[in-house]
This record gives sequence, C-alpha cells and structure tokens, in this order.
Amino acid sequence: MNENTEGLITRYRSFLRDEQVVTDREGMAHYCYDATEMRFMPDVVVLPSTTEEVSRIMKLAYEAGVPLTPQGGRTGLSGGALPVAAGVLLSLMRMNRTIEIDEKNMQVVVEPGVVAADLQETLKSHNLFFPPDPSSTIESTLGGNVAENAGYTRAVKYGVTRDYIIGLEAVLPNGDVIEVGGRTAKNVTGYDLVALIVGSEGTLAVVTKIIAKLLPKPAFRRTCIFYLDDLVAAADLVVSIFAGGIVPSAIEFMDNTSINCVADYLSASADLRRDAAVMVLVEVDGNHRTGVDEDVSRVFDLAQKSGGVVESKLAGNDEEAERLWRIRRETLPALKSLGKDHLEADVVVPRYRLPYLARSIKESGEGKKVNIATYGHAGDGNLHVTIQYRKRNFAETAEAHELLGEIYRKTIEMKGKLTGEHGVGLTAKDYMSIQMSPVEIGLMKRIKAAFDPKGLLNPGKIFPGDGAGTTA
Ligand SMILES: Cc1cc2nc3c(=O)[nH]c(=O)nc-3n(C[C@H](O)[C@H](O)[C@H](O)COP(=O)(O)OP(=O)(O)OC[C@H]3O[C@@H](n4cnc5c(N)ncnc54)[C@H](O)[C@@H]3O)c2cc1C
Repeated sequence: MNENTEGLITRYRSFLRDEQVVTDREGMAHYCYDATEMRFMPDVVVLPSTTEEVSRIMKLAYEAGVPLTPQGGRTGLSGGALPVAAGVLLSLMRMNRTIEIDEKNMQVVVEPGVVAADLQETLKSHNLFFPPDPSSTIESTLGGNVAENAGYTRAVKYGVTRDYIIGLEAVLPNGDVIEVGGRTAKNVTGYDLVALIVGSEGTLAVVTKIIAKLLPKPAFRRTCIFYLDDLVAAADLVVSIFAGGIVPSAIEFMDNTSINCVADYLSASADLRRDAAVMVLVEVDGNHRTGVDEDVSRVFDLAQKSGGVVESKLAGNDEEAERLWRIRRETLPALKSLGKDHLEADVVVPRYRLPYLARSIKESGEGKKVNIATYGHAGDGNLHVTIQYRKRNFAETAEAHELLGEIYRKTIEMKGKLTGEHGVGLTAKDYMSIQMSPVEIGLMKRIKAAFDPKGLLNPGKIFPGDGAGTTA
C-alpha cells in the first residue's frame, strides 16, 4: 500500500463509521472474489450508505490517484467486480432500500444494493412485474444487473435489463453526481447516457439510484420440457415455435453433460432423461388462460411434428413448474459442484446457429482431457459454455485455454458476439480484438476517458492489454 492510500484511509475514517471501513485481511477476504473464483485483494473496503458518502469516497480516491472498483453481490462471471489494481473496493451492499413503488406510473426507484429476488418479492403484493430476473436472483443486486445489462431466461420475450431502465443517479470518478434519464416513458433529448451507463460494467460511473419501469404481472404461465435425441432437432423446434406465431416467455436448453450433472446434483435422476442429447424448456405466459393453454398445446403439436422428441412433460401446477425450472436454474451450481477449475464463456449467435455452434464446440472437445458442458438461452442464441479442467495439470490448463480461444473464434465466424450477458470484465478482454476493429475499440477508449480521464474507475477491465494486477 502506498502513502496516498494510507492517507486516503485516514480521511475515510474521519467521516465514515468504523464498520464502513474495512482494512484487516480477514474482513477484506469476503470481498476479494466473485463467481469466477479469481481473487484479488484491495487495500481497503468501504461500505457507503448514501450517495453523498459515495461521492466523497470517490472524489478523495480520484484526487489521491487511487484506483476504485465498485462491487455488488459478487455473482459476476467475468470478474468485473474484482479489484485487480488493489486500491479501494466500493461495496454498494448497504445501499439496499426500495425508495418508491409508483403504481400509477408503473415504476420503481431503488438503490443499487437491492437484491434482485427481494425486489421481485416486494413487487408481488403490488401485482407488478420487473421482468429482468437473472438466475443469480437470490444474490445479485440491481446495481450489478444494471452494470452488466443482465439477461435472464425471459429476455426472449421481455428484453434485457437496459429495456427497463429509464433513469439513473450515478457518481462520476471525480465525485460529481449526475442524474440521467428520469420518469418519462420517452426521452430523446441528446445522447442516451442511461443506455450508455447500463452495461458499462462499472467502468464509467457508480450507479447510486435506479428508476425502472414495470409491467403488470402476467396472470398465467405454463411450463413444459422436451427431451430430444439431437441438437439440430431442438433448434428446429425452437424455430418452428416462433414461426408458428408463438412468442414464448422462455426457451432454455441444456446438453447431455449438463442434464447428467444436474441429475447427480439434485439427486433427481428419476425426473431427468439422462440419455437425451438435449433438454428444451419452454414457458408461455399471458393474461388469458385459454390463450396460454392454446399456445402450449400448439407447442406440443409442433414438437411432435419436428421429430427427435423422446420424452415431454407439461407441468400441471406451479409446484411442478418450479421443479422443471429448478433443473435449468441449478445447472451452473451443479457444474461448479464437481470441484474442478472451470472457464466460462457466454457467447451469443443468431438463434438458428446455436446448435451448430454447440455441436462444433463438442467436437472440438472430443479426445481432450477437459470436460465441456453447454446450456443456455436457446431463444436468444445465447450459449453458456463451462470448460472443466484441473489448474494444477499443465496440459489440461493449456487445453482449456486453447479451447476457449477456439470457441470465441468459432462464435465470431458464425456472426456472433463474445458475450451475451455476463460482460467482458477480465475474462473476455483479451479476445476483444477478435470481434472489434481497432477503430471501435479506440472509440470506446475515448468514451471511457471522457468519464474517467485518469483511468482510475475499475481499471484493468474490458480493454485488451490493460494490466490485471496479481491475485490474492
Ligand atoms: C448461478 C449464477 C447464475 C447467473 N445467471 C445469470 C443470468 O441469468 N443472467 C445474467 O445476465 N447473468 C447471470 N449471472 C451473472 C451475474 O449474476 C450477473 O452478471 C449479475 O448482474 C451480477 O450482479 P452482482 O450484483 O453480483 O454484481 P457484481 O458481480 O458484484 O459486479 C458485476 C459488475 O457490476 C459492477 N457494479 C456492481 N454494482 C455497481 C454499481 N452500483 N455501479 C456501477 N457498477 C457496479 C462491478 O464493478 C462489476 O463490473 C449468474 C451468475 C451466477 C453465479
């Protein structure tokens, strides 16, 4: 720790309570990792509870030339919340108030540390619906969801987080507080700074207040699953559902490796078809029971016609639907429970190319020591890939990284993008130049410099070639 940081901590202690400034290694250990399981130790963790405190903390760090990294629920899968350059770790977890639910205008105003599942719970009694609800809902925060422009299973019908954020209060690296957007449904006054900050991975500003629009909660939902013996048959089913005029609220898929891993994890093998090549989960929602039932029965007709279906199930009630959803939601925890090291990719391609990418990834993995599982949001063409390997085994580590590079290259060849919802962060930044031209990267760097001329806010993220510090 340098002198500037020591002086900074003394100044923080002058206006924050003891428990808001953490400097002991044991206390800081809680904040030094996220779902990537990489670890970086900061010099100090600060836990503000107001925008004014955030502003003072950031202004002082900026003046002292000390890097600062914002952090929410630490469920990120691209390492965005890790303090790779040490310095200040700014946890927003104490700013967790739901400030206002405006039923008349169907809007909600929240602080960034509100946990996604808590907001969903609060809205239930108002019969309102905030569609963005990632599978990490019980831990991830609204601030983290906004910073990553999080996707979720129902994005295929309802769109991503950005589609619901209409206003933000945010603090710039120098401590200036800005309010962008607001409470109106429309706003084309100047550049859309709300859209720019959403998805900026905590590199442009720290979000301190979020204004989101809401929808009425759909009254009916039906969930079904199909097991198929072929990936391309599954893609044909997905395409035929849309072509048949149905916009489902979710279409998810899991490959055979993921199915088996979840079956072991949940000890629910009886409910899972272990020999299937792929499982497709379809959910339809709406406000009229007959319309929803008709759509579901058409989905079953289409599945029968498409061929390849070896088994199907329709949930008879909410409890059964929850059991089906659990299979999909527990995929990542199940894969992680195997105790191996893993690399994650979150690639996205035009919808119909997804099975070809998944198949090609499988082929690349054949004969290798590492294990590959694919699953994800079939309706969005968003494929999650988990490569399991042992870090201590040099050959497996090299193989895993080689495969990751190959997956990214194949994705770009299929007109896809490096990440659909998890962000670039640390894990995909070295591959940015596969997707983006130097002109595009240069333009993004100039936007970053306009917000953060000293490059102190969340350094080492997104841009290729930026140093990434050392792990804790
Ligand atoms: C089991 C599991 C399931 C998941 N499912 C999904 C899914 O369905 N969809 C999906 O998109 N992702 C998913 N993720 C990834 C992750 O949950 C999301 O990226 C989520 O948005 C991260 O939120 P967080 O609060 O944990 O943020 P963190 O991990 O703490 O931080 C993520 C990024 O946000 C920045 N940040 C956090 N708060 C602020 C703030 N107030 N202002 C500015 N920047 C901020 C950080 O600097 C960092 O760059 C999943 C992860 C896990 C472990």
